[in-house]
Amino acid sequence: MIVMKFGGTSVEDAIAIRRLVSIVRSQLHRRPVVVVSAMGRTTNGLLECSRMAAGGDTLSAQNRLDEIAAHHFKTAGQLAPPEEIESLREALGRRFIAVRAALEEIGQTGRITPRLSDAVSSNGELLSSVIVAAAFRAEGLKGVWVDVRPMMRTNDDFTRAAVQFEIANPELKEGFNAALADGGVPVTQGFIGSTADGVTTTIGRGGSDYSTSIIGAATGADEIQIWTDVDGIMTTDPRIAPEAAKVKIISFAEASELAYFGAKVLHPSTLLPAMVRDIPVRVLNSRRPEVEGTAIVRQSPPSRAVVKAIAFKRGITVINVTSDRMLMAHGFLSRLFAVFDMHETSIDMVATSEVSVSMTLDDTRHLDAIVADLRGLGEVSVERDAALICLVGENLKFTPGVASRIFSSIEEINVSMISHGASAINVSFIVDGGSVERAVKSLHCEFFSELDEETFEAAALAQTVA
Ligand code: ASP
Ligand code: MG
Repeated sequence: MIVMKFGGTSVEDAIAIRRLVSIVRSQLHRRPVVVVSAMGRTTNGLLECSRMAAGGDTLSAQNRLDEIAAHHFKTAGQLAPPEEIESLREALGRRFIAVRAALEEIGQTGRITPRLSDAVSSNGELLSSVIVAAAFRAEGLKGVWVDVRPMMRTNDDFTRAAVQFEIANPELKEGFNAALADGGVPVTQGFIGSTADGVTTTIGRGGSDYSTSIIGAATGADEIQIWTDVDGIMTTDPRIAPEAAKVKIISFAEASELAYFGAKVLHPSTLLPAMVRDIPVRVLNSRRPEVEGTAIVRQSPPSRAVVKAIAFKRGITVINVTSDRMLMAHGFLSRLFAVFDMHETSIDMVATSEVSVSMTLDDTRHLDAIVADLRGLGEVSVERDAALICLVGENLKFTPGVASRIFSSIEEINVSMISHGASAINVSFIVDGGSVERAVKSLHCEFFSELDEETFEAAALAQTVA
């Protein structure tokens, strides 16, 4: 069997959902489980409603929710089998009643607790999946709506709940096997789960990819397909380098680095479950299903390309701590990192010298408290609006002279905090936010202009997945 995930733009309206149905129909023989995101912009819209309600603007919250509801009812009306229209409207209506109740509670207290936030935002996927399952039945497929929540067991860290695999895995396996029986096409939700007490949780923004990989691994799928609105993983963001090309095949390790360091196609945790079970992941374009997409596999075939892709992240904060107490002392770094641990903030990149440590963060929610605590360890300075650039490729391990190629191609740009990770398949560094576009353009030109489609074609020929 396979797991096929369709993101927000791939379920945004009736046209998109009809495309989805025909894509799934073409792969029925592979016994697909279908995972959907909320219809495009719905999650943001629901969260906006929460904020409006918390701010006391009940009327705006109501109006915004009415817009969301109207779009769902309209789409359902365009897709459902005639005999199901009434029951489908009722099902959707019940969801909106639940949303309204949660918004009311937020309005009364003026506070969006993480638990209430999830009670609202989780409905996007519950709504879209009901509509998609009905659309399958309208077209003669055996669409079976599956509520993932009782199977996708998480802890109660609402808005970013952690999946409890030892419970979730066997539940997911059993649940989806049952739903697949007799030609059923299960349609379920990404992004959501529930606690042991049955309270709905979400696993973090953009988490539907991750849900899909978890379901794929738990059910032992032959392939995981991520259907989105771009042709696959690109050599870099085409808005910055229009000549950017699709990467046909890439290793788990390379793709994970890219997702982590800013490529937006995949949620950073997506590949972990797939990797553990060695399940190939394909990124595909639901608007152009005939395009082959990007295959992510355990080992990418040999390639001439030194760099596979260039990712970047804007809005990075750099913290520098300088202290002569570091000199010849032990335990300094552990005290320093303990500060970040205490404030539950992860560090992306670190560079140290004898007397200073520089670290980058992109989660700055606890920045002030972190800086205050770090002052006990040394002098602290903070640079905001930096950008992180990351070049990824397995060949970076073996190719001498790459560092000089990288840095001479952006010689006029000020670079700080260079890191060539332990995995050795990425080179990352920090530039100031204003230089990131220029740097990415130059780097892309340096590493990709002599590579043509041929190289990518050759790589594709060697690929091991069907
Ligand atoms: N709908 C959720 C979000 O917008 C999850 C996802 O689409 O992956 O964050
Ligand atoms: Mg996404």
